[in-house]
Amino acid sequence: MIRFVEEAPFVPTQISYEISNILYKGRSRFQEIEVVENPDFGRMLLLDGAVQLTEADEFFYHEMLTHVLMHSHPNPRRVVVIGGGDGGALREVLRHKTVEKVFFVEIDGEVIKVAEKFFPRVASGNKDPRVEIRVMDGAEFIKKRPKSDIDVIIVDSTDIIGFARTLFTQDFFKAVRNCLREEGMFVTHSESILFHRDTVVKVQKILKDAFPVVDLYASPLATYPGYWWSYAVGSMKLSPREVRRPHKIKTKFYDNEIHGQSFITKKFYEKLMAGKLDWALKGTFSEK
Ligand code: SAM
Repeated sequence: MIRFVEEAPFVPTQISYEISNILYKGRSRFQEIEVVENPDFGRMLLLDGAVQLTEADEFFYHEMLTHVLMHSHPNPRRVVVIGGGDGGALREVLRHKTVEKVFFVEIDGEVIKVAEKFFPRVASGNKDPRVEIRVMDGAEFIKKRPKSDIDVIIVDSTDIIGFARTLFTQDFFKAVRNCLREEGMFVTHSESILFHRDTVVKVQKILKDAFPVVDLYASPLATYPGYWWSYAVGSMKLSPREVRRPHKIKTKFYDNEIHGQSFITKKFYEKLMAGKLDWALKGTFSEK
């Protein structure tokens, strides 16, 4: 048995996993890609040494990243998924019968291929006729989109380091707003509230420059450093807290009750944004 030690981004913390088997190790133009096995979590996808998903708990993240907005938007027909090369977010979006078209925009085509081979149940939506795969930078894709053409945009990127940083800038959020329809909504992960407090606040502040409605929700996840994972929302006019479409699809964690409970309470949010909550791990991302 060997051990894999993951460095948490932006904070001096490590998490260690037993590895029973290494199934794949390769390097793409963009990053190191590994597929390993852990006795409890099953297969794990690692990019540049950071855990992207495990077979055992991926549903917590993929369901919460996608279904909150997909149930809050009154009629999500045209969707963009940026990043998410493993296919998990795409799979969840496709469960919605309203969806007519999904642009799946991943910068690294190798991640898509590795996921299709080693995580077929996660990458199960890639061949759906509603899906158009584009292998390119998500920020470039969004900048070139026509105005008011998309209902929901979902960013499932790696940590806010290197080429993923293009997806967390003021310019990108403004371009996202430009291509959303009147009731359009946007969500991106924004790291952990417990490990990356200042990152969470910073993403909220940048979003507020682009969107009239900005909000924050969170869900638990055993294998992302900081465990209490956050999701930042920008909306053209509707509150993402409200469920506008009843929950009919099969899920393991998400339901309409969790939807409401996952949003950060108003008091906690105000204190967080005002810098009145202090704890040791502030974990700030760098824009350069
Ligand atoms: N949810 C996972 C996490 O937080 O650890 C991320 C999973 S998914 C595999 C992340 C994907 O985002 C990677 O495959 C990476 O290549 C892709 N990605 C990063 N930056 C990107 C960008 N600027 N445009 C498109 N895809 C990007």
